Amino acid sequence: MNDVLISTEGLSKHYQLSSGFFGSKERVVRAVDGITLDIHERETFALVGESGCGKTTLGRVMLRLIERTEGSVRYRGQDLHALSDTAMRAMRKKLQIIFQDPFASLNPRMRVKDILAEPLRAHSFGTAAEIEERCKELLDMVGLRQHLLNRYPHQFSGGQRQRIGIARALANSPEFVVCDEAVSALDVSIQAQVLNLLRDLQERLKLTYLFITHDLSVVRQFADRVGVMFLGRMVEVGTTEEIFANPRHPYTMFLISAVPRADPHQRNRERPILVGDIPSPMNLPSGCRFHTRCPFAQAICRTEEPVLSDRGGRAVACHFPLDQ
Ligand code: SF4
Repeated sequence: MNDVLISTEGLSKHYQLSSGFFGSKERVVRAVDGITLDIHERETFALVGESGCGKTTLGRVMLRLIERTEGSVRYRGQDLHALSDTAMRAMRKKLQIIFQDPFASLNPRMRVKDILAEPLRAHSFGTAAEIEERCKELLDMVGLRQHLLNRYPHQFSGGQRQRIGIARALANSPEFVVCDEAVSALDVSIQAQVLNLLRDLQERLKLTYLFITHDLSVVRQFADRVGVMFLGRMVEVGTTEEIFANPRHPYTMFLISAVPRADPHQRNRERPILVGDIPSPMNLPSGCRFHTRCPFAQAICRTEEPVLSDRGGRAVACHFPLDQ
């Protein structure tokens, strides 16, 4: 495996909420709760889990788009929270994000050339002519024609708009890109084209991706490793092959079993179905956070929270991981 590019240690983001008369009751939402994670250079690490599990918040806290409550983020060994504002601003060139909804994330009043020039100007890229040249190069990179620079976002299809969003993220030659549900809003055929583009750009530009998604069929084709989150905690981490072939955490097993299968024999087999709602993040269950939905729960699961640890070569947070 390549060197670690970005890592977190005990990273948390808690939100303090007030309710009752005069805000008398304080409640805490543990959106991200003590995540320790290494992402290696040039890998695609997928972060999966049901909506509300904290995956988007984790991606944003790693980029310091949202401030952490506790813990640290290191980029090439440098503590991001120890950087001055100026140093962090310079660091932002290396850390970028592609959003889910390309239409909402592009300013409808700006032409493509201004959308792409904005991050370049913010980091003093060069003269006006150099910026224009770079904008053309960026459009080439994402497979759009240069004459489209003068158009507005509404003049493009959803797939083309996402290509513009990708071009904007790549403007300042980042190394680490968070793809936050980057293909979820696209039709399946367009999704495949955008995934191919992302894979091609990763090869050419030596990018590292944190790929946040709820769609496990996309993860299977695209990611090298997978981290499964449940209610702010990481419950399993492994290679994509391992996770799909042999999930060890019961929650991972349920997620994998819900992925549609092409093989009709497999399709007809009985599959375990996850029942019950996700518990409220304001009122977390005691012990293992999954115990209210887990068919394998035993007494200890209600009182002791399992920690993510090596269980026969796989990182799993479960008192009774499933057999290998
Ligand atoms: Fe299920 Fe217990 Fe494992 Fe939690 S610790 S996932 S309740 S078996």
